[in-house]
Amino acid sequence: MQAYIKKIIKKSIPYKVYSPILYSYRYVKSIAYIGKEFECPFCRGRFDKLLPGGYTFPVLREKNVIGAGYRLNAACPRCFSADRERLILLFLKEKKQDIFLKKIRLLHVAPEARLSVFLKSHDNIDYLSADLDSPLADIKMDITNIVFKDGAFDFIICNHVLEHIPDDTRAMSEIFRVLKPGGSAILQVPISYSIPHTIEDLSITDPKDREKVFGQDNHVRLYGRDYKKRLEQVGFTVIADNFIGELARQDIHKYGLIEGELIYLCSKNHSSPALSN
Ligand SMILES: [Zn+2]
Repeated sequence: MQAYIKKIIKKSIPYKVYSPILYSYRYVKSIAYIGKEFECPFCRGRFDKLLPGGYTFPVLREKNVIGAGYRLNAACPRCFSADRERLILLFLKEKKQDIFLKKIRLLHVAPEARLSVFLKSHDNIDYLSADLDSPLADIKMDITNIVFKDGAFDFIICNHVLEHIPDDTRAMSEIFRVLKPGGSAILQVPISYSIPHTIEDLSITDPKDREKVFGQDNHVRLYGRDYKKRLEQVGFTVIADNFIGELARQDIHKYGLIEGELIYLCSKNHSSPALSN
């Protein structure tokens, strides 16, 4: 019931109106969490615990799915940044500083609120966010049919989206197409390294069955170790960057990151052949 009321509020009140009210409400509530163990790299709040997140469906545990299973410390109690969002922020600051130093055009698909605000705050970034439905997004867009010409963007962030899309190859190809030669994309998905091949069955449409097989009611597949190959097949040069593994253990814990999560940094080489739409 509470979720239903929240949905109605989100649908009927513009995001710009309810967002500051929500932030103030969360700020007050977060005072109870103040401590020293965790630190949010977005709001710089320091807390004794974070908010839990994720799902407990058995498949997520059995297949050790990274990025979807239950986590005790998933979201910041103050700004609600998610672990996957904090990971992208820290990675960009540490390993992709170039995107803050030159004029770039950036597409953020299914934008996360805190990451969106952070990217927009940089004058050199010509920022655009897109989503099928999110009130946070600048435009409504289907990533299997991106409404921009070839080579329109220098950088694309698409975090935990592809697992929802029946024709993910088409979405990957579209992202590849609208990247400039020399541009890069971060394409994160929930993934199991204990399965060699992605589990995919588009005939499974019942939400309960999807929870059993893929670990979430609106996922259409569970990616396995072949994820990198799937990205390479549309033309990307892919680095599965073990950024988290390079951090000190106390920092992984402090920022509430998911151990074992790799960053899929997908580049379009200057020599890459243009794919037809
Ligand atoms: Zn925060």
